[in-house]
Amino acid sequence: MNTVSSLLDKEWYERYKRISRLNIRSSIYDVTNQCNLRCRGCFFFSSDEHKAAPEEMDIRKWEAFVDSEKARGVNLAILIGGEPTLYLDRVAAFYKRLPTYCATNGLIKVPRDRFPDMMVGISLWGDEEDEKVLRGKDTFAISSKNYAGDPDTYYLYTITPKQVGRIESIIKRIADAGLKVHLQLLSNDEGVEGFSWTDELLRDIRDEMDVMLDRYPNTVISSKYYHEIITTGQMLGRSFGWNECPSVTEPMDRRKPQPKRLIRFIRWAADLNTMHRCCTSATRDCSICKDGAAHMSWVMVNKRAHLRSAKDLQGWIEVYEMFAKLYRFIPW
Ligand code: SF4
Ligand code: SF4
Repeated sequence: MNTVSSLLDKEWYERYKRISRLNIRSSIYDVTNQCNLRCRGCFFFSSDEHKAAPEEMDIRKWEAFVDSEKARGVNLAILIGGEPTLYLDRVAAFYKRLPTYCATNGLIKVPRDRFPDMMVGISLWGDEEDEKVLRGKDTFAISSKNYAGDPDTYYLYTITPKQVGRIESIIKRIADAGLKVHLQLLSNDEGVEGFSWTDELLRDIRDEMDVMLDRYPNTVISSKYYHEIITTGQMLGRSFGWNECPSVTEPMDRRKPQPKRLIRFIRWAADLNTMHRCCTSATRDCSICKDGAAHMSWVMVNKRAHLRSAKDLQGWIEVYEMFAKLYRFIPW
């Protein structure tokens, strides 16, 4: 039987050792039900999750809740929403207690005197034209001014099918702003015409993502194995979907057989009591889900399956490193 040490040379083994020390236990938190945008295709609003429960307004309850999450073993709080920056006191309740990542649309700048090294991920849905169609405004024009040169910020660029063949101009603008970028694909939750993937488009975008990684290695935080997984939905001959997804809220996970999954993962609503099914919305069809973090986690929880060959294990290491960089567990 293959073992990690039998498959890796010294350099890869050192890389493996660095990440194997990390014991990441993440959960996701809706900080608020409100947002200063209404993007077409936002899973949160399109699935009415913002109406699931009224949000908790008492900051002391948020603080007590984060303490209990820490006691539950969570060591990475991923803040989403709605728009978390609308309630910075809630963001601070997490940041003071736990390693915290804050997803934002970037329209409001996180004050760095209050959150000096919190990792910020800015959502971006394409170029100016796509952003106006899908989000009602060119958010990059504002977010890039707010965060230019910030060492703890990256763009989470959700590539739409209309972007195929055109992503370099955006990556170049991000590089020029002195920021990093991570790539994922639009799931088109609201079925906006012209924004659905075909096999051919997915093949093309995979090639383009690979080229971008080669051309902008200091800007693009990614890996070719991740590009393969997210564009094909295939890993070692297995298909991504409900039966394999690792990012299902643990107390709601009654799948049999139980797949490899994120330990203790919960996605909490902003009432601090309601749980959501998974890291995106319960109304999303798993067969078209392109969620980047769920695909990354799918690889990460399946280490043993990657002991098939040195190449497979190296692909696993690269995906793990990518995740660890994006959530500040290791430097860029
Ligand atoms: S900015 Fe984010 S939370 Fe707000 S509407 Fe757009 S996708 Fe949804
Ligand atoms: S929608 Fe995506 S993240 Fe949610 S359970 Fe289905 S595959 Fe997993």
